[in-house]
Amino acid sequence: MTDIHSLDHARALDAADPLPTLRSEFHIPQHDGGDQAYFVGNSLGLQPRGVRAQVEDVLDKWSMEAVEGHFRGHSQWMSYHRLMREPLARIVGAQPEEVVAMNSLTANLHFMMVSFYRPTAGRPAILVEAGAFPTDRYAVESQIAFHGFDPATDLIELAPDQPGGVFSMASIERAIAEHGHRLALVLWPGVQYRTGQSFDIGEITRLSHAQGAMCGVDLAHAVGNTELALHDSGVDFAVWCHYKYLNSGPGAVAGCFVHERHARSDVPRFAGWWGHDAATRFQMGPHFQPTPGAEGWQLSNPPILGLAPLRASLDLFDRVGMKALRKKSLRLTGYLESLISQRLDDTLQVLTPAEPERRGCQLSIRVRGGREQGRSLFEYLAANGVLGDWREPDVIRISPAPLYNTHEDILRFANGVDAWRQAR
Ligand SMILES: *Cc1c(COP(=O)(O)O)cnc(C)c1O
Repeated sequence: MTDIHSLDHARALDAADPLPTLRSEFHIPQHDGGDQAYFVGNSLGLQPRGVRAQVEDVLDKWSMEAVEGHFRGHSQWMSYHRLMREPLARIVGAQPEEVVAMNSLTANLHFMMVSFYRPTAGRPAILVEAGAFPTDRYAVESQIAFHGFDPATDLIELAPDQPGGVFSMASIERAIAEHGHRLALVLWPGVQYRTGQSFDIGEITRLSHAQGAMCGVDLAHAVGNTELALHDSGVDFAVWCHYKYLNSGPGAVAGCFVHERHARSDVPRFAGWWGHDAATRFQMGPHFQPTPGAEGWQLSNPPILGLAPLRASLDLFDRVGMKALRKKSLRLTGYLESLISQRLDDTLQVLTPAEPERRGCQLSIRVRGGREQGRSLFEYLAANGVLGDWREPDVIRISPAPLYNTHEDILRFANGVDAWRQAR
């Protein structure tokens, strides 16, 4: 029988993998003279080597062409954001007009709610998952209050019904049915950041719409991780960031999706000149005429230097495609899960659902024995060049990113846990 814990086996899996790694396209942080085993792509993705050239391109253009850089050449700044939209649309399963790279995630969430959270006295409520990422909760709560409603009654937070903080689809269905007549909006994650659980966006959208509510999704942990089909799901809007699995750098310009059915609607919005119809924008007229589609929600002329890294990252995604990438992700995370279940079960407990269709690449792993044990293991791993991230009180998140992580990286995690256990 093959020993899945041997280095030879891990290396053989890497060598035989149907999708060769793009690891050499990334800068890998170093530790003790070798590569770090970096599992924190769910927080800040690694830097693609192509980023520097894209940023330098913009700097060169600015230095040589100055204001004329707006209007010259293929990567002219007037339409620079357009270079992103087709590759982005492929990643999220959308039509090009449905996506735009702009602002930051939380800003986009607010702007989307301005248009798609239109509470009335009879229907004021928003449904979210209990334990949502704080910024999402702050945004939703402040929108409810902004409209003069009361978050105490109109922010409905559904508690997980399964062990480890996981949701059954039945519990989501029940909550939407129970509160349906009062719901203006359902806001749900594509992949929950704490547990790594992924959700059926099409089904949640269908249930929301059946009750007369709008549906939006936060894809911070889903984009570039799971296969998405936003257009077909029918979801009204989606927001995400580009610094996690999209590898576009700290605080990178974020992404936004508005479904085609709203492309030409006259829903209220907070407008800015870059959302104005590009054909007439520079007539500088007083009346706002939105560009059809997601671009019509843009406000300002985009930060070109901020967008430049995204171009380099999207090139890498286009080289492999989400379908092949997701398949590789399933192999890597499946290997991580096998190593844990075969050898480390007495030390670690995986909280993320076991069914591959209910998770992305991340496993949220509880360290048995409580916080002190957990911190000790986390620090031991970090000191030995294996970096995950820590969630209070006792969870380590390990997210093998299929663009650059390998089976060998994953074996280093398992060996690290084993060595820590032996040393105690
Ligand atoms: C990472 C993350 C954010 C971050 O929001 P920013 O506006 O980019 O700072 C928000 N929501 C979720 C669910 C996240 O995972």
